[in-house]
Amino acid sequence: MARIIAVANQKGGVGKTTTAINLASSLAAFQLNTLLIDCDPQSNATSGLGLGKDPERNSSYKLLVGECDAASALHPTELERLFVLPAHKNLIGVNFELVDAEKREFRLRDAISSLREKFNFIVIDCPPALDLLTLNSLVAADSVLIPMQAEYFALEGISELLDTIERIRSGLNPTLEIEGVLLTMFDERTNLTQQVTAELKRFFADKVFATTIPRNVRLAEAPSHGKPVLLYDPKSRGAESYAQLATEVARKHLPDYVQPEPATVEKQAENEEKQVVNAPRWRQRWRERNRLITIGLKG
Ligand code: ATP
Ligand code: MG
Repeated sequence: MARIIAVANQKGGVGKTTTAINLASSLAAFQLNTLLIDCDPQSNATSGLGLGKDPERNSSYKLLVGECDAASALHPTELERLFVLPAHKNLIGVNFELVDAEKREFRLRDAISSLREKFNFIVIDCPPALDLLTLNSLVAADSVLIPMQAEYFALEGISELLDTIERIRSGLNPTLEIEGVLLTMFDERTNLTQQVTAELKRFFADKVFATTIPRNVRLAEAPSHGKPVLLYDPKSRGAESYAQLATEVARKHLPDYVQPEPATVEKQAENEEKQVVNAPRWRQRWRERNRLITIGLKG
């Protein structure tokens, strides 16, 4: 059964999408079947994995309004074990169109329930708002991962997010957990970072991930090449830190899991990149179809 992790913080630009893309792709590189659901109308996770804008494609919008089922909205990526359920900017319409719909907060949970047994992890990228899309994500999720920048105003607005989580726990999703607080764009050299980190640890205690994500230009560049950082620059500090986060998450939920050697992961990334670049289109399509069959999504 998949562990469903929503990456949420209503504050903008704190590293949600960067974390969703790179956590999901690192888990996939560790041979774990992983799905990234883009639940943000900005569609940055979708374009960051190399998918163009296409309002006709099956997407999170069509899924939430009931125009397609989840299996038909999955798209393969350059990584064998990573699939994406993409978004389009039309997703913004859900906030208005479903306003009076019955069980509107449960749309995503119900729509993806059939996928749980096909994946090890499902990561959901949320928009920077506590809107119906984030609500759907938190109701569908087992846990919420909160990326935060260690800056002076980090805790501002967090009480609002925690109140929302509490409210969801007391009604819509009683088992929702906090997966952890992830410090992003981290620069341990500054005094301010040290102070804010100490404050966050006092507040969140053992919920702060041991892994921190450094500020690393490769992480910022990778999406413009349509790639997760482990394919763009596997040796960068950004790639290493997200691999470490994936290890932390995988070990927690799959205690018997034996991680492949880092060298194997790197080799796999290299090979897959070559294959995709070299494969003629029809061969690529076959491989994509076979991949879906391998993880049981197509008959
Ligand atoms: P939004 O709230 O708009 O959805 P977000 O929380 O998803 O934003 P990102 O898009 O992941 O945040 O990151 C914001 C910007 O910071 C992006 O330009 C991204 O490339 C950059 N960025 C994120 N993490 C890092 C990092 N560790 N090092 C350097 N740049 C980063
Ligand atoms: Mg984002």
